[in-house]
Amino acid sequence: MRMPHFSIPIVIIGSGPAGCTCSLQLSKQGIHHWLMDKESFPRDKVCGDGFGYRVMRTLKEIDGLFPQKFFPQTSHSPIAGIRIFAPNRKFLQFTFQEALDPLMPPGFTCTRRDFDNYLYQSTSSTYCSKKNPVTIVDILKRNEGYEITYREETDLLQHVRCQLLIAADGEQGISHKYIGSKTVKAPLIAARAYFKGVGGIDKRLIEVHFLKKSIPGYVWLFPLEDDRVNVGLILPRTLVKEKEIHVRQFLTRLLQEDPLFAERFAQARPISGTKGWSLASKFVPSSLCGDHYLLVGDRANLVDPITGEGIGNAVWSGYQAAKAANEALQKQDFRAAFLKQHYADIIGKQLSKEFAFSKKLGFLLRYPFILNIIASSAQKRGWLYRSLMKLFGYGKRG
Ligand SMILES: Cc1cc2nc3c(=O)[nH]c(=O)nc-3n(C[C@H](O)[C@H](O)[C@H](O)COP(=O)(O)OP(=O)(O)OC[C@H]3O[C@@H](n4cnc5c(N)ncnc54)[C@H](O)[C@@H]3O)c2cc1C
Repeated sequence: MRMPHFSIPIVIIGSGPAGCTCSLQLSKQGIHHWLMDKESFPRDKVCGDGFGYRVMRTLKEIDGLFPQKFFPQTSHSPIAGIRIFAPNRKFLQFTFQEALDPLMPPGFTCTRRDFDNYLYQSTSSTYCSKKNPVTIVDILKRNEGYEITYREETDLLQHVRCQLLIAADGEQGISHKYIGSKTVKAPLIAARAYFKGVGGIDKRLIEVHFLKKSIPGYVWLFPLEDDRVNVGLILPRTLVKEKEIHVRQFLTRLLQEDPLFAERFAQARPISGTKGWSLASKFVPSSLCGDHYLLVGDRANLVDPITGEGIGNAVWSGYQAAKAANEALQKQDFRAAFLKQHYADIIGKQLSKEFAFSKKLGFLLRYPFILNIIASSAQKRGWLYRSLMKLFGYGKRG
């Protein structure tokens, strides 16, 4: 038996940072929508748990009091700066003045379990209907938009129709089977684990370690509250394939074999397993929208190709998508050309520039001796030094 369908102007698939931010802005604009996810919240997401400036700046744009509500209610660590370790194991450190402002630090760390849950719980009960956990079974193009077929707790198939579908289901979602260009294999692969008791941690600083064996990838150590440290490794897929690297095992090996890590992890104990995930960094500006749909966050491949940062762009693209949705609803125009003008062009213009810069610098990072030189002349604040600060977007104003 076919169940009667619901109709709603907008459906968002995926309640991560991109989907929830989009929902927050849609609610602010008084637009009713559905927010669907396959998971119940809170849930984990494999991530470095590092939040650059763009995240809070965008959320503050939606709700001026967001930082005042978020920071006192969540376990987080404000981040004042970064240490970049070169292969010679010397490090370059820079800090930002804004660290003094507890409500607008240049960056912070927070587990994705806590952050995503906070965002999810912040969505409006008036305008947003949350549907989760659901299994999406089919997405069909209709004349007036899309029809999504899904299952909730029972086996019963249900249907919802919308004029605009916003795909926010991340790198390993389902929407790519039905809308948008075919996904290319994510160019970056990463592994993450949580530790306690790591030596030599400065709670205000995130650490990035370029090791001879991992270049142009890197190991990160991001301090969290309660003496926990998010430890991970990010590598280009090409390197993983060429050298047949098992990323999770490789991370464990690096922590044991590198003398500096061996010393600092001597008293440390893992408090989680090591999990792997891939990063959607193959940005193609022309593929961000089509008739009756928009792609946001990782689903739109908005992860920085060098640093692996994606939360800021996920949040920002969700916000921009909601603004474009508002325009489309008002004009009743959901054609690709209209959505391109109000969404894809804005995202494309900003991120093409940023990613081109990252790639240029990423090219230099392939050479260990360059990193060694920078780290050894830490006091010389040259072009490369300033560029590295910009690359690891903490404190970035954009
Ligand atoms: C190891 C690792 C470390 C990283 N570290 C950082 C970092 O420190 N800082 C940073 O800025 N970025 C980091 N990133 C990138 C960052 O995690 C992503 O850019 C960010 O999560 C993107 O948010 P999103 O909302 O687009 O997607 P996601 O966070 O992936 O959310 C997608 C949502 O869609 C849901 N979903 C998936 N499939 C379906 C389906 N079939 N049906 C319904 N719902 C579905 C999921 O349950 C999830 O809730 C890291 C990524 C990795 C892999």
